[in-house]
Amino acid sequence: MKIVMLGAPGAGKGTQAKMIASKYQIPHISTGDIFRANIKNGTELGKKAKSYMDQGLLVPDELTVDLVIDRLANDDCKNGYILDGFPRTIPQAEALDAALAKLGEKMDYAIDVDVPDENIVSRMSGRRACTGCGATYHIVYNPSKKGDCCEVCGEKLILRDDDKPETVQKRLNVYHEQTQPLIDYYTKQGILKAVDGTQDMNDVFTAITNILGA
Ligand code: AMP
Repeated sequence: MKIVMLGAPGAGKGTQAKMIASKYQIPHISTGDIFRANIKNGTELGKKAKSYMDQGLLVPDELTVDLVIDRLANDDCKNGYILDGFPRTIPQAEALDAALAKLGEKMDYAIDVDVPDENIVSRMSGRRACTGCGATYHIVYNPSKKGDCCEVCGEKLILRDDDKPETVQKRLNVYHEQTQPLIDYYTKQGILKAVDGTQDMNDVFTAITNILGA
């Protein structure tokens, strides 16, 4: 099962993607996580990506596409995967489709976690991310049982630079301009499924599993 998760930054698609990956035993591939790991490890890619991410801008396609296509060639992707945060532009989606077509494959589902802009800014300011493993929490909707430390690895939780209110509005603008056109793109392919992302996290998950099947 090959799934693309769509939705504005802060819509909760990362949380849902991890839950889906665990239920269906497929890898969760998040370009944001890959970039953050590169930043943490001080790689060249990380240095380049950081300058865009901190401004709320997209990392250029030429730094992003090959990274994902290479990742999809790994053995663990044989039975499918869930893409979280990729594609984010039409050229990225076209490059993905072209790479899949070469293998005689195609995406099965594009799931849009739909949340209106007005809900997003308040949500994002409550988001906390682990500096160790990248796990995400929300101070109201999904708090860590260990306070300001990560439940998984115990490292400190922080408000990411790109989740600060001044950056969030810019990320939303970027989303509407560059990523939202993907909704039409996947609607035309007949694989778009929208779920109401304003519901409780577990209800969103139930809506998604109803679409994907048991
Ligand atoms: P995320 O964790 O998915 O919200 O991503 C955080 C940031 O990483 C985004 O705001 C972008 O700057 C960058 N990023 C992640 N995925 C992509 C992508 N597919 N294309 C371009 N930039 C990306």
